[in-house]
Amino acid sequence: MNNNQELENLRHSAAHLLAQAVLELYPKTILTIGPVTKNGFFYDFLPKTNFKEEDLPKIEERMREIVKRNQPITQKEVRKEEAIKLFKDNPFKLELIAGIPDETVGISQQGDFFDLCRGGHVESTGKIKAFKLTGLSGAYWRADKENAALQRISGTAFKSEKDLLAYEQRIEDAKLYDHRRLGKQLDLFSFHEEGPGLPFFLPKGFIVYNELINYMRELLKKYDYQEISTPTILNEDLWKQSGHYYNYKENMYFTEPIEEKTFALKPMNCPGAILIYKERPRSYRELPVKLSEFGKVHRHELSGTLNGLFRVRAFTQDDAHIFCTKEQLEDQILELIQIIKTVIDKFGFDKIQVGLSTRPKKSMGTDEMWERGENALKHALETAKIEYTIFPGDGAFYGPKIDFLFVDSLDREWQCGTIQIDFNNPENFDINYINSEGKKERPIMIHRVIYGSLERFFGVLLEHYKGLLPFWLAPIQMRILTITDEQQAYGQKVLDLLKNLNIRAELEKTSNTISAKIKTAQLEKIPVMIVIGQKEQDQNTVTFRYNKGEQEFGIKLEDLPKKINELFKK
Ligand SMILES: [Zn+2]
Ligand SMILES: [Zn+2]
Repeated sequence: MNNNQELENLRHSAAHLLAQAVLELYPKTILTIGPVTKNGFFYDFLPKTNFKEEDLPKIEERMREIVKRNQPITQKEVRKEEAIKLFKDNPFKLELIAGIPDETVGISQQGDFFDLCRGGHVESTGKIKAFKLTGLSGAYWRADKENAALQRISGTAFKSEKDLLAYEQRIEDAKLYDHRRLGKQLDLFSFHEEGPGLPFFLPKGFIVYNELINYMRELLKKYDYQEISTPTILNEDLWKQSGHYYNYKENMYFTEPIEEKTFALKPMNCPGAILIYKERPRSYRELPVKLSEFGKVHRHELSGTLNGLFRVRAFTQDDAHIFCTKEQLEDQILELIQIIKTVIDKFGFDKIQVGLSTRPKKSMGTDEMWERGENALKHALETAKIEYTIFPGDGAFYGPKIDFLFVDSLDREWQCGTIQIDFNNPENFDINYINSEGKKERPIMIHRVIYGSLERFFGVLLEHYKGLLPFWLAPIQMRILTITDEQQAYGQKVLDLLKNLNIRAELEKTSNTISAKIKTAQLEKIPVMIVIGQKEQDQNTVTFRYNKGEQEFGIKLEDLPKKINELFKK
């Protein structure tokens, strides 16, 4: 049995344990379902009188009592009629039984408690040791508002107390390092009621934003990308041709007619890139054409769904559109996978999950096109030695795609990179190139993003690094702190040196004590402080004090460039 299966059995058993405890304390409660989730389990109940948050500790205590009883958990198949008798007072279970196509249904039992169940348990209640109830919320039977309103008790269970504590710590950290909170605390970005969901980047935040762009720009240079910039508003006819007008209108912003034409804010960058590709005839000799754009797009989202930088109404995509021949497709995909891997490594996301979405039922294009597309994606992933999961039928109607999910330091998954093959737009916009025989041919178009949304990626990084951005990305990289005012002139000399080295540095000029200065710099998440006292001044040296407290004494001024180079590599 693999680790995941074991954990699932444990959590599934914990859900039964919860139901048993609830029935012992509140015998008139009606049980519905209690599935396992990504981080734990829940059980939905129809109680006689509603549960309150204060009831949870009592329920948890009863669960612990049942654990002590160490009742064996058994599982058997019974005939449907028998099951119907067992659950005669529970309309929900009866509905579930009616929906089971088999002759028999599974019943689990521990002590007097029994439940409808397909199996997969730990041996006895005594095995469920590290668990916790995490919350109470509302739910509907079969998640349908027209149905009975239920109460959901959620919990989690782990194999050891240590795992449970680590999980709780991650939950605490996630609250503490919420990017919205860090954004305010570190003066990075803000939101105003004049533009809900439209982020404002403050000077420090805009440094980070630009550094992210600079890094990507440098990386793409190595792969012969050509950067473009296309307009934010374009006329309605273009969006009709691209299909966005018909399929995506509710999420788009339109203008009043201007000189009798209605314009729309671009929700995607693709049509702009296509217009540039089509400006002149393209020869097979210049393919692949790789047009990259840091393009700001606007997409309307409902107010209730907005969430800091994670869900906004305007964001910048690190977008690119690649036009290539059929023969070039696989190599292009492989190159994109390499770029994505480089970026994931750069930011220290070690785990990635990759999904390949294939042809849906409703789709355009020929079998041959789809086979070629899907095979190119598969082969490239295999060549890159990346494990992937296939999601059959999950592709867009116009082509298959690969999605990259990575896991951050708080064990959360984020979807960023996407490689999308597009058979539709080349047809739609009649895109061509002239092949070696002088004939017109359709190129294949690839849409791809690596960060995805720069805004969202920024938010993810803030939480991933818990606010302490790496040296190259930090808005203020170094702050010079003098022990007394006597060293200010020497401090200024060091500052000039750092500025010459292109370091974002500043000299603290207040007369606060050195410990207060250090404290402030730590809270502002400045990666390196340069501490200067009389001794440093006399010896023409500085002391490095890293944000987390580690120190390096006696660094000679002439060694600063070398030391700083090392910091950029961290
Ligand atoms: Zn069960
Ligand atoms: Zn696109």
